[in-house]
Amino acid sequence: MGAKLRVLHVAAEAQPLVKTGGLADVVGALPMALAAAGCDVRLLLPGYGEVLAAFDDTALSPVGVALGTAFGASRIRLLRGTLPGSIIVLYVIDAPWLYARAGNPYVNAEGLPWADNHLRFGLLAHVGAQLAAGALDEAWQADILHAHDWHAALAPVYLREHPANAVRSVFTIHNLAFQGRFPLSVAPALGLSATQLTPAGLEFHGDLSFMKGALLAADAITTVSPSYAREILAAEGGEGLDGVLRDRQAQLLGILNGVDTVAWNSSTDSALAQTYDRATVHTAKAVNRRALREEFGLDDAPQRPLVAVVGRLTAQKGLDVLLDAIADPALADLQLLVLGTGESSLEQAFSALAARHPGRIAACIRFDEALSHRVFGGADAIVVPSRFEPCGLTQLYGLRYGTLPIVRRVGGLADTVVDESAGATGTGFVFEAPHAHALRDTLRRAIDVYQQQPARWAALMQRGMAQEVSWAGPAQRYRELYQQLVG
Ligand code: ADP
Repeated sequence: MGAKLRVLHVAAEAQPLVKTGGLADVVGALPMALAAAGCDVRLLLPGYGEVLAAFDDTALSPVGVALGTAFGASRIRLLRGTLPGSIIVLYVIDAPWLYARAGNPYVNAEGLPWADNHLRFGLLAHVGAQLAAGALDEAWQADILHAHDWHAALAPVYLREHPANAVRSVFTIHNLAFQGRFPLSVAPALGLSATQLTPAGLEFHGDLSFMKGALLAADAITTVSPSYAREILAAEGGEGLDGVLRDRQAQLLGILNGVDTVAWNSSTDSALAQTYDRATVHTAKAVNRRALREEFGLDDAPQRPLVAVVGRLTAQKGLDVLLDAIADPALADLQLLVLGTGESSLEQAFSALAARHPGRIAACIRFDEALSHRVFGGADAIVVPSRFEPCGLTQLYGLRYGTLPIVRRVGGLADTVVDESAGATGTGFVFEAPHAHALRDTLRRAIDVYQQQPARWAALMQRGMAQEVSWAGPAQRYRELYQQLVG
């Protein structure tokens, strides 16, 4: 065995410090699984107010080499500590002018992207590349720089400008729809030269594209499920970048996300009214369901399955399709609980629906991690009717918690859920077309099994709960990829 592989992860969010979606779950858990697989893994995050506030005075200490000023930040320090709840070395960029803002990491109180996002995430990538190349922490440099999503996408680009160093880069696409597109005029502020701004480079339909930069510069590209890795090669799923991806197909790999099995463990989950395992799920689920119904004023109706949504309320997630489907009288027996935030039209539509159907439909328009655990503990099913889905985590949490996934056959949903009609391998309900009637028919099918074949429903729960979804396997695959790259 040689020395440990040194890997720097660069991302805009990570559990338990800052989360808006699945990216944070992955970045909070994958480093630990890689450490368990024998890598020396470190993580770099922007020092948003909420990140710095999570540490007491002495928990983060400045790293030796001075950063000076860059990208409009007059004072930049690199701080070092440990990711809470882990042994992972965490680097945080303290640049108050760019990061010390309340609320969401990406958008202001009006929901609009911060006007200087190119600088905020350009700096993240710049520091990531410098740190990986050994230019910032005298005691450490990386063999692999692993950048996540558009926020970190310039890191492989900047790394290319260090021709002397041997650091290899991996770029993971968590969602190709968010690309980090800015006017070409911001390029000089990011230290990018005119020669990089061609259609064969970072220019994309007259804009500067962070994501495209990474797709061209990274030594390897991964995405978060095998199906999504195929879908993004075609025009339909490629978000305009399918041509670039086809050119780099030999370097593109789909590795399915895992689940943080410590955070998502129904037998130890302190958010639940009653914890449970496979042996006790039946009775405990009833207790948790009753508690959830009480919390949201839903009728305690034993014959009505309680179906939940946890996620961003957006067209990507197919929630407009759910709105259409749910109006169908064939679904009168179904209770619906929606936990999510997103497009205001959908937030309003679900709130209005809940107001029209008290006792049957409830909508909770906020981001609430603890509540999301109670929802998985108490709901009978989780519905994920996405138009596209790179991996999706809520169906995996559903499997773990005995909350049957009802999903569209697309992306990572197709890779993780097997329709009950398959018999001995079934774990949930799957439909094809992104249309209200297809979703309605499948929800009706779920109601029928719930009401008429409780033993079948119980068998589906058991199989889902037994499914291997930990990070151990995926971490091994990333490790193999890193190993290949360093040769
Ligand atoms: P995406 O990353 O596309 O938003 P994923 O399914 O991969 O979708 O991950 C979403 C993550 O965010 C999951 O951990 C989910 O439980 C969580 N989540 C989404 N919306 C909410 C919310 N309103 N409250 C609590 N957790 C949420």
